[in-house]
Amino acid sequence: MQSNYESIVPTIREFSGSSISIERYSKILTMVIAGEPLSSILNALVLLIEKEKLGTRASILLLSEDRQRLLTGAAPNLPDDYNSAIHGIEIGHGVGSCGTAAYSGECVIVEDIEHHPFWQAYKALPLQAGLRACWSEPIKDNAGQVLGTFAMYYDTVKSPTRLDLKLIQEAAKLASLAIERSRAFQFQQLAVNIFGHLPVALVTTDDKWSVLEANPALYQTLQLEKLVSFNPFEIFAPSGEIAVRSMLNELSRQQVWQGELATMSGKNQRLDLEVKVTSFSETLGGERRFAWLFNDITERKQANELIRYQADHDALTGLSNRSHLIEKVQQHIDQTNGKQPFGFMLMDLDNFKVINDTFGHECGDKLLVSVAKRLQQQLSPEIHLARFGGDEFALFIPFISDSEALEALAEQWRNALSHSYTLANGQKLYATISIGIARYISDAHNLESLLNCADQAMYIAKSQGRNRYQLFTLRMQQEAERHAKLLSALKLAVINQDFELHFQPIVCIETNQIIRAEALLRWQLDGEYVSPAEFIPIAEANGLIVQIGQWVRLHAMETLIELKNQAIDIGLSLNISTFEMWSDNLQDKLIASFDALGQQLCQGDYPYQGLTLEITESVLMEQHSHLIETLDTLRDKGIKISIDDFGTGYSSLSYLSHFPVDQIKIDKSFVQGADAAKKQQALIKAISSLSQALEVQVVAEGVETEPELAFIRGCGVEAVQGYYFFKPMNKASLFSLLQRQ
Ligand code: C2E
Ligand code: CA
Ligand code: CA
Repeated sequence: MQSNYESIVPTIREFSGSSISIERYSKILTMVIAGEPLSSILNALVLLIEKEKLGTRASILLLSEDRQRLLTGAAPNLPDDYNSAIHGIEIGHGVGSCGTAAYSGECVIVEDIEHHPFWQAYKALPLQAGLRACWSEPIKDNAGQVLGTFAMYYDTVKSPTRLDLKLIQEAAKLASLAIERSRAFQFQQLAVNIFGHLPVALVTTDDKWSVLEANPALYQTLQLEKLVSFNPFEIFAPSGEIAVRSMLNELSRQQVWQGELATMSGKNQRLDLEVKVTSFSETLGGERRFAWLFNDITERKQANELIRYQADHDALTGLSNRSHLIEKVQQHIDQTNGKQPFGFMLMDLDNFKVINDTFGHECGDKLLVSVAKRLQQQLSPEIHLARFGGDEFALFIPFISDSEALEALAEQWRNALSHSYTLANGQKLYATISIGIARYISDAHNLESLLNCADQAMYIAKSQGRNRYQLFTLRMQQEAERHAKLLSALKLAVINQDFELHFQPIVCIETNQIIRAEALLRWQLDGEYVSPAEFIPIAEANGLIVQIGQWVRLHAMETLIELKNQAIDIGLSLNISTFEMWSDNLQDKLIASFDALGQQLCQGDYPYQGLTLEITESVLMEQHSHLIETLDTLRDKGIKISIDDFGTGYSSLSYLSHFPVDQIKIDKSFVQGADAAKKQQALIKAISSLSQALEVQVVAEGVETEPELAFIRGCGVEAVQGYYFFKPMNKASLFSLLQRQ
């Protein structure tokens, strides 16, 4: 813009030598500088020229935005009809004086409109308006681009003098000045407007951080009254010196930096800002300036943080959730290249289901919250606690992997948590926890197996009576693997009925005759017998025991018939698992199965009196009225009831008077070594004499030696089972043995 003012100075000086007065032209200049509307300035210019040059009627046309058409600028003394006919006319060679001048960029002098070729197509219009000559000068900007035309019309045929040509050129220059200035002014106005209303804070500074300009949004964002200096180290202090220094370093290498920084507002609130800073220099090689653009993203960040928090935390306890803790542990493993050992624990409230069922879920929830709180109070900050789901918590313990240290922590936490809890409603609960401990690297090389190890250890802690911790051991791993292998093989064996029955004779102590044999289940896996003590509990835990029991009953009952058919008069004992009598329904099924097998084998005339069922004390503990009914029903058929492993359970002799039983088998743990141990002797004697009084037969099992037998003999025991006489044998061996007897 400035250069345009400069260019006008010699112009005015030049006019001063002519008939045109400076004062008049200065009027245009004043209007331009005052920023008056373009139309007023152009109008004034036209009037000025007309006044200067009597008999002329001047007009200014402006080139449209697309540079194709002419639009009315100012022509106050040309007829309206004429002006509106010209408005919008397309420029081109031969489109009157102005259309041609605008098109060619050259001055076009038409002395006689009526006969000039440029006006052939349009002359009716001017002639009607009484216009006969038209001289047109293109108005150009500094760069020589056409902005419009300045024209002088006469009502007579007329050619311009040298001075006229000069006048028309100068008028076009003045118009150019007015147009350019007005457009720049408009642009500036727009820029100021944008700057002022920009919803983003903008501040420009020099390289000493003095504020050059700042928009209202800046003061609003920072909640400041005024700002003299914008030193990034002070402004972005909450982000820390390192962050600011790294931003400035980057800005020294490149023009733009974009990122997030924090500031303190004038009201001393921390604000998170999204910042874009551009460095530039005002003139070539001049001092560096910075334009800082930023907006407040505090709320957006807080909302994001809330969303992230909710995704990572458990709503009830506020602890990290499972996926968050797993993510953290995995991160730790990745960051240390899997080389840093650490500890991991799973904790589970004991009997939480019972608490939930008894006191309601609300109480259960409150208990979980209290446990979480109490546990948190125990933890040092580097330990991460999470609620893994349900009543299970997990602890990630970085840097501690020593088993003794971990056990000490587990014991400390178990002690702290196993307490009574008073809930908000005054309800008092006593809770205990079980803990499984696993160590990263020594127990497991990846997160998944680490969780597995902790889980197995916890399972053992639970199965060993709860309210305790258990460190994962390699043996657990092997046992778990063996357990899984046995279970899947056992399922197959059940389908294929891939079992055998062996028999161990039971001998009458007085006659040394075999009076009965106990049927014992045998199963081979990979060519080797698996101990029933190992696979029976697995079958019990998985419900397979009912089908297996059915198989045993069928084959034992068949064997009894075969014995009868060979005129061998001994009985058979069968083991019945506690799980087969777990419920009333199962007991009914058991009776039904004896009925059905009796029907199948002997059309209902089965010699049930040859059968003895061995049940354990635990059955008697759990069941009551229905069990008595069941046992009565079985005894009515002739089946005898024996209590197996007597003495190992809760051994209450009162069972013997409450339940209809025929026999007890004193467990081998009492029998073995009884010849030497006084206490064992006293117990066996007491059991035997009481049993005799109740008319219950007593059998001793596990007799292995002569001295054991000798001792037993004096105790009133009627029958003996043990390796001293016979080991369990297959059916063929049993039959040949009995035939010899
Ligand atoms: P149990 O019912 O107490 O069976 C007696 C166990 O003691 C048998 O072990 C037998 O081999 C063993 N035994 C007998 N005399 C001696 C001895 O003098 N010394 C020693 N050390 N042991 C002796 P087995 O056959 O390994 O059976 C183990 C357990 O598996 C049985 O204990 C029983 O609880 C269960 N079981 C076996 N067969 C069946 C079955 O068909 N059904 C159910 N439910 N359980 C069965
Ligand atoms: Ca038994
Ligand atoms: Ca036994």
